[in-house]
Amino acid sequence: MANLAETKGMILFTRDYKEKDQLVKIFTESAGKVMFYAKGLHRPNNPLRSATQPFTEAIYIGSLKQEGLSFLNSAKEVHPFRQLQADIFLNAYGTYILGLVDAAIDDHVYDPALYHFTHSALKLLDEGYDGETILNIFEVQMMARFGVGLNWRACGVCGKTTGIFDFSSKYHGILCQQHFDHDLHRYHADPRGIYFLRMFANLSYDKIGEIKLKAETKKEIRKILDQLYDEYVGLHLKSKKFIDQMTEWEDVLKRPEKPEN
Ligand SMILES: [Zn+2]
Repeated sequence: MANLAETKGMILFTRDYKEKDQLVKIFTESAGKVMFYAKGLHRPNNPLRSATQPFTEAIYIGSLKQEGLSFLNSAKEVHPFRQLQADIFLNAYGTYILGLVDAAIDDHVYDPALYHFTHSALKLLDEGYDGETILNIFEVQMMARFGVGLNWRACGVCGKTTGIFDFSSKYHGILCQQHFDHDLHRYHADPRGIYFLRMFANLSYDKIGEIKLKAETKKEIRKILDQLYDEYVGLHLKSKKFIDQMTEWEDVLKRPEKPEN
């Protein structure tokens, strides 16, 4: 039996279905990820049209089923993340974040903590905080949702928590400098990159304003995260490839100096 329900949710994606209908995947606060069937979304006067745009949060009303398709009837309190919708770079970060959410958990799994974490990430992107930092925090904390538990807290050999560290797959976590010889295949990563990933692994998004990273440090963090995701998660999302290309273009084009005025 399906019951009519109201739930806060964020649009994950929409897909055309038949001629005039659409499938709308929504990450709901109260029922996890749900695939909805929405009728007549192509009609310009359908009030659901704005509520089903990418990067929108709203209260969605419909019949929720545990199995098969749920039906989307209406929406209220529609809140679009306008900068995310308009800016191609922010759009890319947001798309990747939602892609990770969609890949990491099964449908219908109640996960309000992840809902609020995801909402914070999108909100901060929308408010103009540093996109790469927001994304990196999301990626490192998201690994737990993929079932990957890494020890960022202390050296896997001696338990030391301060100093210079590297990442070791053998220990599924960090090694202090004194114990680098315990794993010859350690990442040989930049210590600053490891330092920030240790911080990001436990950082709350309300502290994001305090973090300012140099471009080269961001590159090191990116390198380590790519290695971790390759090794432990093995996802190949199109949206991530797009971000990589974007970074390459930026390097090639190098933004011109601002003219003086
Ligand atoms: Zn140690």
